[in-house]
Amino acid sequence: MNVTTLPKPPRVGLVSLGCPKALVDSERIMTKLRADGYDMSPDYAGADVVLVNTCGFLDSAKEESLEAIGEAIAENGRVVVTGCMGKEADVIRNRFPDVLAVTGPQQYEEVVAAVHEAAPPIPSPFIDLVPEAGLKLTPRHYSYLKISEGCNHRCAFCIIPHLRGDLVSRRPDAILREAEKLVAAGTRELLVISQDTSAYGVDIRHQPRPWKGKEVRAHMTDLARELGKLGAWVRLHYVYPYPHVDNVIPLMADGLVLPYLDIPFQHASPKVLRAMRRPANDAKVLERIRNWRGQVPELAIRSSFVVGFPGETDEDIAYLLAWLEEAQLDRVGAFKFEAVEGAPATSMGDQVPDDIKQERYEAVMALSARISAEKLAAKVGRRIDVLIDAVDGETGGATGRSKADAPEIDGEVHLRDAAGLQPGDIAPVRVEDSDEHDLYGVPV
Ligand code: SF4
Repeated sequence: MNVTTLPKPPRVGLVSLGCPKALVDSERIMTKLRADGYDMSPDYAGADVVLVNTCGFLDSAKEESLEAIGEAIAENGRVVVTGCMGKEADVIRNRFPDVLAVTGPQQYEEVVAAVHEAAPPIPSPFIDLVPEAGLKLTPRHYSYLKISEGCNHRCAFCIIPHLRGDLVSRRPDAILREAEKLVAAGTRELLVISQDTSAYGVDIRHQPRPWKGKEVRAHMTDLARELGKLGAWVRLHYVYPYPHVDNVIPLMADGLVLPYLDIPFQHASPKVLRAMRRPANDAKVLERIRNWRGQVPELAIRSSFVVGFPGETDEDIAYLLAWLEEAQLDRVGAFKFEAVEGAPATSMGDQVPDDIKQERYEAVMALSARISAEKLAAKVGRRIDVLIDAVDGETGGATGRSKADAPEIDGEVHLRDAAGLQPGDIAPVRVEDSDEHDLYGVPV
């Protein structure tokens, strides 16, 4: 049996100086880097690159910043400088010609790009929350918002808890502050990510924090509601179907949160789910999906499934295919089970041969493609909102996404006669055509 050994993620050391605003900037940069797959290093020696977030408000602060840069160069040698002193790049470069990059305050994209260049991220489908293509810097109009680290579950095929530890939730006010800044800087869509979004706040007992004159609990529903008030699209990823997920459906009906749920079901057969040790493994989930759609008919559900898990039989796959037919999920990604070093499933007996995995994979993909094509065809003639991702000046066309499409993992909407639109615009569009994954339309 082939066992995949994962490379170690690159590690970033951080020295954060200055005022609380600089600390928020550091937090935002590190959130982005963590979302991109980086680990933090608590010391110079373990870091592949050291980020120094400087303060340049007073001469004494400048001197302190220069000393910090000098120390990082001496201890590690690979240093990226950002923050207020970045405005005086010449001073820094004259004194420390070896710094890798100097960026100014709030130049988030630039500083993250400099870290990517100094220590390139290693994309891994086994641990990344953000799709590989998303590892490039996301354009300003959409942003990943990481709400927690780690996971309390112990799914048999997964090494995340081993790598990242148990769930550690961020404070709701810190998340909301970051989201507010992102929206002020041009973000039109917030993509909420974590290993288990529905478990957000469990570790901190859903402790409330003050936000805009009231208390907001560290709970998915409260957080989603407050995020929805910021005026951007809010898309929830990695939601497990715990009972309290029912409470976010009214937020979708009210237009605060996008009618979209990314639920990684991974399988449907109760026997396989038990063997996988999946959370929220509820037999009544089809009934709940029906109920959600009753409240929000346009709800789009995306999910991923693993076929060929050890012990999976033909009956299990037949169960999964029948379940998929019934569930009518909008987007489905299927993966063949792969043994990863350190995951319990790797040493389980009854491994499924590769050719059978392939057959099962093709069966799931063919069914999902048919369902997706039918669901998209039903949208032809309708009017939908499209968030523009890219424009093509030569053809006058544009590409964007509907509320049912997350970037990089779902479909796109291809527009003709879209001159005048810019990335980040939200345009009303009439759908003219469809295929298995994408829609085609014209702005109206
Ligand atoms: S829920 Fe399961 S698959 Fe997801 S991170 Fe936690 S242990 Fe891994």
